[in-house]
This record gives sequence, C-alpha cells and structure tokens, in this order.
Amino acid sequence: MTLDQKDKRMISLERAQELKERIEDYLIKQESIPTGFKNEEYIQENKKRIMKILNATDEQWDDWTWQIANRITDIHTLSKILNLSEEEKSQIELVGKKYRWAVSPYYASLMDPDDPYCPIRKQAIPSIKELAEGGEEDPMNEELTSPVEGMTRRYPDRLIIKVTNQCAMYCRHCQRRRCIGQQDLALPKDDLAKCIQYVKEHKEIRDVLITGGDALLLSDERLYWILSELSEIPHVEIVRLGSRTPVTMPQRITDDLCELLSKFPPIYLNTHFNHPLEVTEQSKKAADKLCRAGVVLGNQAVLLRGINDDIHIMKKLNHELLKIRVKPYYIFHPKAVVGTGHFSVKIQKGMEIMEYLRGYTSGLAVPTYIVNAPKGKGKTPILPNYIVSWGENSVKLRTWEGEIIDYPN
Ligand SMILES: *Cc1c(COP(=O)(O)O)cnc(C)c1O
Repeated sequence: MTLDQKDKRMISLERAQELKERIEDYLIKQESIPTGFKNEEYIQENKKRIMKILNATDEQWDDWTWQIANRITDIHTLSKILNLSEEEKSQIELVGKKYRWAVSPYYASLMDPDDPYCPIRKQAIPSIKELAEGGEEDPMNEELTSPVEGMTRRYPDRLIIKVTNQCAMYCRHCQRRRCIGQQDLALPKDDLAKCIQYVKEHKEIRDVLITGGDALLLSDERLYWILSELSEIPHVEIVRLGSRTPVTMPQRITDDLCELLSKFPPIYLNTHFNHPLEVTEQSKKAADKLCRAGVVLGNQAVLLRGINDDIHIMKKLNHELLKIRVKPYYIFHPKAVVGTGHFSVKIQKGMEIMEYLRGYTSGLAVPTYIVNAPKGKGKTPILPNYIVSWGENSVKLRTWEGEIIDYPN
C-alpha cells in the first residue's frame, strides 16, 4: 500500500505532536526556573539598595575599577546586603580565615538576600562545608606540568598562561584555590616574557590560552602588551581568554577593551556561566560588545550540586546562553579540590544531563561533558552510550529517543 499525500501529512502531524510531548516536562518546569532576564526588575532594586549601602553613584557602579576596589570582603558590609543569621556570620568569618572570599557589588546584586540556597550566593559566599576534610590541593598536577613559571602545558599544541590570581569574585568551587591566597598577585612581567619566549621557541604551539585567576583583571595596557607580543609569533594561530567577568563584573567589558581586542583577531573568550540567573541584561550587553569586536564567545560551566545539577536548569542555562551569543562549550565535572567537596556530584548526573540535551534541543545547546582525569592526565569526554553493539557488517545504535536500530557498516 502506498501512502497518499493526505496520509503522509497525517503521519507528520501525529509525529509533531509526539515530539512536543517529548519535552512536555521541560515546557512546564522551565516556566518556574528563575533567569536573569525575568529577574531584571528585582536586580535593579537590589542594585539601588547596594549602591545606597556603598554610597555609590551610577557612574561608579558602571566603572569596573570601582567594582574591584569595592568588592565586598568583610562580614560587616555583607550583612547589610544579605540577611544573615549570627551563625552564618560567624561561619563565614571562620571560613574566610582559611579561604579568601570577595564579591563584586554587581554579582551581589544578583543574589536573593533572604535565601541561603540562592544559586548565586552559593557560588560566592563561603560555606562551613568548605572546612570538611578530603580532596586534593592540586588534583590536576599543574605543579608538575609547568615548564615555565605561570604556564601549564598538558596538551601537544596548546598551553595556558596564568597571568594573575585576581578575580572579580572568588568562586567557592574554584579548582585553583591554592593559587588564590589572600592577596592579589599578577604574574610579573619578567615571567610573562619568559612564557612568551617559550611559545616563540615551540613551533607546535598554535593556541595560547590566557587565564588566571581572571585574564580580564589585567589592565588594558598589560593585555595589549601580551596580545601584541603573541600576534608577532607566526605559529600562534589563535588566542583564547579565560574570564568570568561577563558573569561577575560585566562592567569590565568597556569600549576601550573591545577596541583593543578587535585589533588581534582571532580571539576566543571562554567564560563561566553556571546558572540561568546569571544571564542578565548587563551580561548580554557585555556579550554584544565582545561579539561586535569580533570575539568568539564560549561557555565552560561546572556541574555543581545544588546549583545546576538538574536536567532542566542545565538546558535552560544553555538556551539563555545562546540568546546572548555564547556557545556552550564544556560542562566540567567538578574536581576533587580541597574545600569544594560539598559541590560534588555523581558522573551519572552529568550523563543524564547530556542524555536529555542531545536530540531534545538544538545541537548548539549541547556542550561536551568533561571529566578531568586525575594527575593532569587530561580532559576526558563522557557521553551517554549510543553504540549498543558491534556486528560483522552492522552496528546496533540507539537513537536519542531510545530506539534501537541496525546500521549497516
Ligand atoms: C583545558 C586546558 C586546555 C584547553 O583545552 P581545550 O580542550 O582545547 O579547550 C589547555 N591547557 C590546559 C592545561 C588545560 O587545562
């Protein structure tokens, strides 16, 4: 029996309905997931409140040097901004003696002052759980893969240079806590020059990643110097910047910075959004400016218990990112770093998230899920299994919907 046009259309309509039903749970859930865009009014109110507490003008708020100089670093100021119990206050002080904390006023304006479980707050405000035992200082063995001070080389054709330990906000889940210390330290220019010299002498290095800390906490002047030095090395094809400022301090993305970056194409900037609440009007403005300067934007999220270890939140995050032209690049499984054990999740959770992205949503919204092998053995991709079995001349595959099919090979 052959199908006529009408039958074909009927089948298509039924299939379309079935497809919609595949994401019915998400369509319902996503309405209640808070986002930075939905929260705009609330963020503006918070901003006004914090500006009053810090005695700031609009002009100061929009100036990143003011944001840095006025990072909230003491419990007295923090307790004016958030409603903290006496117990929380003493715990924050206690943890603060061991691990540095600082929050840009902008990032504080995204927080819910009344909710200790606020996903923004959990990333920035110390928790007593950081004092729990377990974990390693340097699970990546960065200390053993550093041919020059400030550099880590773990792959054949690319390397990273850690130019500063400074950040606009010190993530509680930081993988390089050991480098954060209690003071801001920029890599001295001599050491930077040695890193650049190393790149010059190694023709196989075609990709140089400037990170930290946060690469954009360098002055424009210092950045200009690094980028112009690198641009003169013929075998360096691309430069990447690692910066969380589009999330934690979008004021850093100034016209001057964009003008500077536009002079050294191709520049890729990978940032670090972890929750849809972080994708705000302000971060969109920053992303827009960077795009106009020709910078290609990517996101490296970290899977964190109680923050984004949820299939719907992660999907929403990736959708919000695409709206501001940031391509989801990686989801990192959290590393076993001392003081971050309370964020740990099972690998199954990451796999489940990947399972419900592929096919269910745009391929553009599907990053690669990475487990970093211990001892610096490198990024290891983890994927739900789509190959069921190998035959002589065919392979059994599983489709995104779970149908098993034979594929001639
Ligand atoms: C993550 C990382 C890179 C970049 O890896 P890609 O997979 O190319 O993004 C390079 N060097 C080091 C040391 C890294 O940790």
